[in-house]
Amino acid sequence: MVGGGQLARMTHEAGIPLGIKFKLLSDTPQDSAAQVVSEVVIGDYRDLDTLRDFARGCDVITFDHEHVPTEHLRALEADGIPVRPGPDALVHAQDKGVMRAKLDEIGAPSPRHRIVADPADAVAFAAEVGGFPIILKTVRGGYDGKGVWFVRTEKDARDPFLAGVPVLAEEKVDFARELAANIVRSPHGQAVAYPVVESRQVDGVCDTVIAPAPDLDDELAGQAQELALRIAKELGVVGHLAVELFETTDGRILVNELAMRPHNSGHWTQDGAVTSQFANHVRAVLDLPLGDPRPRATWTVMCNVLGGDYPDMYSAYLHCMARDPQLKIHMYGKDVKPGRKVGHVNTYGDDLDDVLERARHAAGYLRGTITE
Ligand code: ADP
Repeated sequence: MVGGGQLARMTHEAGIPLGIKFKLLSDTPQDSAAQVVSEVVIGDYRDLDTLRDFARGCDVITFDHEHVPTEHLRALEADGIPVRPGPDALVHAQDKGVMRAKLDEIGAPSPRHRIVADPADAVAFAAEVGGFPIILKTVRGGYDGKGVWFVRTEKDARDPFLAGVPVLAEEKVDFARELAANIVRSPHGQAVAYPVVESRQVDGVCDTVIAPAPDLDDELAGQAQELALRIAKELGVVGHLAVELFETTDGRILVNELAMRPHNSGHWTQDGAVTSQFANHVRAVLDLPLGDPRPRATWTVMCNVLGGDYPDMYSAYLHCMARDPQLKIHMYGKDVKPGRKVGHVNTYGDDLDDVLERARHAAGYLRGTITE
């Protein structure tokens, strides 16, 4: 696996029961996954020679992030190394302009959008969609809200162009909430769909995921799952695909973006589904039959733990575990920086209010924002 973050750490964990030899290419020995994987290569994934050396002896390569240059992935494939998902699929998660063009081609619903050349063109786009505000996004390099601008004036429209990367303009969608349709697909074309979840963001960062999305119309949920399965098939995705969606106030779904790797909106599956997204990603990458994606409980809630100032993790664990014996804690071993995702908790049960309260309490306590 290329990339040493928490997604690699949890994918590695899912491979342990299958006896998989897991090799990691990581930026530093301190990275979340590098702390726990036995075979770690430290190096820069942007350097082709490093990637080639790393890939030698691997049966298959997969990723913890989408940043490996597309041309390097093509070079690895040309060397005969299976790359899953492959570059022709992954480019749609790397480049928002390529993604929008492909979604248009296959008739998947997107916000109105087009590439804009400069701030004046962004103003022209705003006029086309009924005025400001609009959203501008750099087509490459964004994550967790970085690379996304809410633009209200021509002056606001200057910053996105400074990076020298093409800029995609989108209408600002009037959404009721954000959903995610997560599926896993194998090279054989077998695919499984998890229940559609609701994802709540705070300051552009995922905060809470509720599985399944409360009060979601069955027909819309089915449409979202079918859409995700169709996107995966059309794009040739192998592994986990998260389709981030907007549910509009008038009851439609629009695709926000695609992630081709295990995803934060799927962390609930570790404790809330028969087969976790990580276990199914491993199976898909190895072209094994996929596991049952169905939920184990009526409701599962995931809350991210953001970096705060933990005074003392041990006493936080004492409190949280004593308060809620069903609580599942997943910490990533990362250095605490304010606002950084350092772990998550999962809770489950039959009463959504109770399940939400327990997850929020534990995440807040582990962060240090709740003290009793
Ligand atoms: P990232 O690559 O950082 O995850 P996204 O494209 O998902 O960026 O955008 C981050 C957040 O910005 C979204 O979760 C959503 O809340 C908001 N956003 C993005 N695009 C739009 C849009 N077209 N209309 C309204 N809100 C949007």
